[in-house]
Amino acid sequence: MMTTNDRAARILPLVHELKDIAGVMNILSWDQETYMPAKAASVRAQQLATLQGIYHERLTAPPLGEAIATLEADPDATETERAMVRSLRLERDRAVKVPARLVRAIAETQVIALEAWREARRMRDFVVFRPHLEKLLSLKREQADAIGYEGERYNALLEAYEPGLRVACLGELFAALRPRLVSLVQAIGGSGRQLRNPLANRRFDPDKQWELTLRVLADMGFDFGAGRQDRSTHPFTGGANHPHDVRITTRIDPGSLVSGLMSSVHEAGHALYEQGLPLAHARTYLAQAPSCSVHESQSRFWENMIGRSLPFWSHYLPELRRLFGAELQSVSVEDLYAAVNTVRPSLIRVEADEVTYNLHVMVRFELELALLRDDLRPADLPDSWRKLMDEYLGVVPTSDLDGVLQDIHWACGDIGYFPSYTLGNIISAMLLEKMLGDIPALWELVGRGELRPIVEWQRANIHVHGFRYRAEELVERATGRRICESPFIDYLDKKYRPLYGI
Ligand code: ZN
Repeated sequence: MMTTNDRAARILPLVHELKDIAGVMNILSWDQETYMPAKAASVRAQQLATLQGIYHERLTAPPLGEAIATLEADPDATETERAMVRSLRLERDRAVKVPARLVRAIAETQVIALEAWREARRMRDFVVFRPHLEKLLSLKREQADAIGYEGERYNALLEAYEPGLRVACLGELFAALRPRLVSLVQAIGGSGRQLRNPLANRRFDPDKQWELTLRVLADMGFDFGAGRQDRSTHPFTGGANHPHDVRITTRIDPGSLVSGLMSSVHEAGHALYEQGLPLAHARTYLAQAPSCSVHESQSRFWENMIGRSLPFWSHYLPELRRLFGAELQSVSVEDLYAAVNTVRPSLIRVEADEVTYNLHVMVRFELELALLRDDLRPADLPDSWRKLMDEYLGVVPTSDLDGVLQDIHWACGDIGYFPSYTLGNIISAMLLEKMLGDIPALWELVGRGELRPIVEWQRANIHVHGFRYRAEELVERATGRRICESPFIDYLDKKYRPLYGI
């Protein structure tokens, strides 16, 4: 009989090696976005491609496959070992099933498509990007067919971001959510109330803004001994795929007090998750989130539910006055609260408020689905985009730049990713509802700047489990209910109806 030690000795060295390579790649990517000198761009791309090749080779090598099969067949394997091997198999199966020729073709096409997308944006013309999107789509179809799926082809692509989730379930969730969002947006529009933005047209010293983000990160419990914050054009969370090396970036805009702070708080939500993953299982596939939506639920929770709450701003107002006295003299906490929660249908997803945001996501989901079902030709995308934007949000872009060309995702081959954003919002509201039951004084604590009890709750209910459970099971264990849209709707109603007097 094999003991736990025997089993570990057989598979863990292989797993650790893989995760070390992945961690190093992640650090190189972080460096690429922060400190790397411009001339290093092409050598860095080569280095990453080399490491990617080694990673793929090790992941698909027969010894690992044998070690996985042995462990799966072992009746004495522990629950933890089973969970670890389950998450590893997910990663390996996708790599094994897709032929190397196709992996290469997709990687090469993405590089060219990304360049074409940038050119198309300069020309404000989708036609420049269209042939590249067509090619990418046909390769992604091939990839989905190689991976295999039940029902919808889209399921195979969704699996990369949301293991276990199916289009049918997602479609149902979105179908229930959409009319409620549309009617809330219409009610807000019909209220005639325009929220004043007392922060507009002012300048907020970037160094002081930076100081503010560090103060808030420390209050949130971000461990600066196991992480750091730097600046980048597009904020993100990176690091070494290890709880002891988690790096976030933010972008400070001198014209906005809110955007830098909120992006710091958002990324810190991701970072607290990474720092809280089970240390005992670091360097394995167990020390990771079970899905992109669960990861996003943590960042959205911090950004929107805590960072855009009245108690949060009332706690930090004295600090804001100390840092930016002159600019904030006549600004009340209610003004600030209204300024960070203005709802207005707009064309650009990344600038959207938390009510309209999900309608942007649904537009993209519908279009991706139609493309993969062959119900929509890429040539008709801009038209369909405008039609759906009009239907869901009541606004129509006049140029492809503000329409179908705005997101980088499709040019990068990330088809099937958008739903994770909305799913993350839905899950974050479920977590808030449960947390309020467990910590009735939550808002008083936030009002006093005591944010640690929130982190402790997240640690115990989400972070510590890593990928022990699939996303839907993790959420059910944490909240006592299956994933559903109603807590999110309730949350929006409770917050925005009073704000807009409806
Ligand atoms: Zn995020």
